[in-house]
Amino acid sequence: MTVILYAIPAFFLLIGLELWADRRAQRGHYRLNDALTSLSAGVLSRLMTIVHQLLPFTLYLVVFDALAQYQLSQAWYIWLVAFVLYDFLYYWNHRLGHEVSVLWAAHVVHHSSEDYNLTTALRQTSGSFLSWIFYLPMAVVGFPPEMVITVAALNLVYQFWVHTQYIDKLGWLEAVFVTPSNHRVHHAQNRVYIDKNYGGVFILWDRLFSTYMPELRNVPPVYGIRGALKSFNPLWANLQVYSQLWQDSYHTARWKDKWRVWFGRTGWRPPDVAARFPLQKQPLADFVKYDPALGARVSRYCFVQHIVMLAMTVYLLLTLDNLTSLGTTVIMVSVFISCMQIGWVLQRSKAALAMEGPRLLAIPLLWLASGLPGAVVIVLLVAHAISLVWLLTVIRSEEDEFSQEDEPQKAPLRK
Ligand SMILES: [Zn+2]
Ligand SMILES: [Zn+2]
Repeated sequence: MTVILYAIPAFFLLIGLELWADRRAQRGHYRLNDALTSLSAGVLSRLMTIVHQLLPFTLYLVVFDALAQYQLSQAWYIWLVAFVLYDFLYYWNHRLGHEVSVLWAAHVVHHSSEDYNLTTALRQTSGSFLSWIFYLPMAVVGFPPEMVITVAALNLVYQFWVHTQYIDKLGWLEAVFVTPSNHRVHHAQNRVYIDKNYGGVFILWDRLFSTYMPELRNVPPVYGIRGALKSFNPLWANLQVYSQLWQDSYHTARWKDKWRVWFGRTGWRPPDVAARFPLQKQPLADFVKYDPALGARVSRYCFVQHIVMLAMTVYLLLTLDNLTSLGTTVIMVSVFISCMQIGWVLQRSKAALAMEGPRLLAIPLLWLASGLPGAVVIVLLVAHAISLVWLLTVIRSEEDEFSQEDEPQKAPLRK
């Protein structure tokens, strides 16, 4: 957690740099709606980590105490072995995250962006409860828990920089490491690229287990998933595949199939359900990014509200150890509501814009009652008061543009 916390300023600096380069080159790798949704998903993932971080850690500790053969030392070469071994186990965690339905349901969030830029790296799942099981062999061997937590964070931080279209192939590095080029392949929905390049830091595992695919000059990657998310709601991005698996499992008649829906190969559906509720798969040639048009004023408003939400998140992460449980809960609820609301407005919903007023009033009231430091509450009150006045002008100017009919349709999700 600490490693990731220290890396956050660098993440935002690099995102700013890439955005600036993108605007200059006019390559269109950034869209406000998609980028803000990626960041919101990253924020929800961090909130979820606060809620459940003790669970996997405790599991690792229990296995470590009960089964560890030795307690390995902190020598540099043990750290190196831990780093490489973690990446090997990450490969299998990631690979099964694509190949097994219930694990794909958790991992799909990271692939739901239809753009590919540094914000995509932060679009992380909130539901990776099961992933720590893959690393328990390290507990049995005797790698100290704090060492594994650190190499896990370093692994995640490494993966940030590969989410860019601004770095071309990197010569011999392509053969050893995960690079922007071979990770672009991993995020593509072109048939030739599906289920390839699972490595976190080293691409060697993919070469070893026949899942490697280089980026082809004549096949530009099309980013996203075959059954598009069509939503900027970061919670729905986390729940959509679970919801579909639940429906398939509920409707199928055979008990064996109810089980197989969850633990079978990703994409498999029971024949009776597939016949009753067929899913249309669009040809890739017809793929269009989900991109409801938004006026400049509303876009600016969403952007600034997102910054306020990010500021609340950073404050939470920096002061977590000193906050009361009431203070922590109030900030988490405020951040959660803001993420949901901003996503909803980005979907061009008139109702969402109307709900902004209650949100801007409710959050300061919650903070006033929370016992958080006075200076912090005052800053928040001022930010929300200004936003409220601004909102009134935004609503007035955008009234003609917004209509309920423009709200997007939810599409069924399949890889
Ligand atoms: Zn993946
Ligand atoms: Zn990725």
